[in-house]
Amino acid sequence: MIPDCFLYLRLTLNMELSKLGEFGLIEHIRKMMMRRSPSVLLGIGDDAAALKFPASASVLATTDMLIEGIHFDLAYTDYYSLGWKSVAVNLSDIAAMGGLPRFCLTSLGIPPAISVEHVIDFYRGCNAALQAHQTILVGGDTCSSQQGIVISVTMLGETNRKREITRTGAKPGDRIFVTGTLGDSAAGLEILKSASKKGGARGEKNYLKRLTQKHLRPVPRIEWGRKIARSHCAHAMIDISDGLSSDLAHICEQSGVGAIISAEQIPLSRSLVMASSDLKKSKLDYALSGGEDYELLFTAPSGKVRNLHSLGIPLVDIGEITQTRKLSLVDSRGVTVPLKPMGYNHFARTSLSEVFKN
Ligand code: ADP
Ligand code: MG
Repeated sequence: MIPDCFLYLRLTLNMELSKLGEFGLIEHIRKMMMRRSPSVLLGIGDDAAALKFPASASVLATTDMLIEGIHFDLAYTDYYSLGWKSVAVNLSDIAAMGGLPRFCLTSLGIPPAISVEHVIDFYRGCNAALQAHQTILVGGDTCSSQQGIVISVTMLGETNRKREITRTGAKPGDRIFVTGTLGDSAAGLEILKSASKKGGARGEKNYLKRLTQKHLRPVPRIEWGRKIARSHCAHAMIDISDGLSSDLAHICEQSGVGAIISAEQIPLSRSLVMASSDLKKSKLDYALSGGEDYELLFTAPSGKVRNLHSLGIPLVDIGEITQTRKLSLVDSRGVTVPLKPMGYNHFARTSLSEVFKN
């Protein structure tokens, strides 16, 4: 049966997209994204995809939404980057489990102002992120939207059965590690916002471009997550999407432990250091509460530190898991202060702050 939203889509989408129609658009997407694989028994085109997983695998399933006006603004986001990021944030959730991404589904709510070219650019971005990790688009849904673009991406991946790294395994005495550098994406967003207010000039400085790139085209840490999983060193892992303070709070809450981290140890890029002095903002705030870094945060017993450093991943030890259920930060003066989970929270619930009252 054809849902009402498709009738609305026919009436209201701009000429180009309405000429193509929803089934024409799906056919276009199918041709553009088609990849043959023995694991895809049925891909785009039937009522459901039929997929093969190895008998020894646990299937990982994750989904993330991106809503125009909440997660992105077309004033400074191009469609290609939007496609890339929609896929990358889901890949990052598979990375955080130590998994291998396999299949993807993309569902779109498309408002009238969007043209076929925009949708194609979006899928070019999706395709680039998917191909970088040999992941195949096997389905989705297409609908009209009256207010802004709605994107929902579902990612299916696999791990060896019972080898996934969860948020619940952190133990007192574990060291806390992060990959890469933190705060770049949040600073990049601020640069994009202020450039769009000034009429689009983002400046040509390389360090500003590096930061905006980190925001628009995050790189999911799939290989690093898998290496960490294969090393059997990590007790708990999460990807940093909400911000270090919030995501550390998630691990601690779900593992029933606390943590103390050192401000001086948090890895910051040279680009962030330079931009935060331009922006007159605290680089530490970007790193602690900025979010959308899509780096990995994990804990491991201190006896495994050498093994971890031999994995060839840029890792920094930023602190320790504690028995006391408190989050603390040793600041740059060496003073221990409470660490509040300050990352993005859609409904401004206070549950994490309540758990960690300090
Ligand atoms: P149904 O009416 O059963 O929901 P659709 O007409 O929505 O079927 O979809 C037809 C096929 O196209 C399905 O295989 C679906 O997974 C795929 N599909 C629909 N929209 C998209 C999209 N935006 N991206 C990828 N695949 C899509
Ligand atoms: Mg459908």
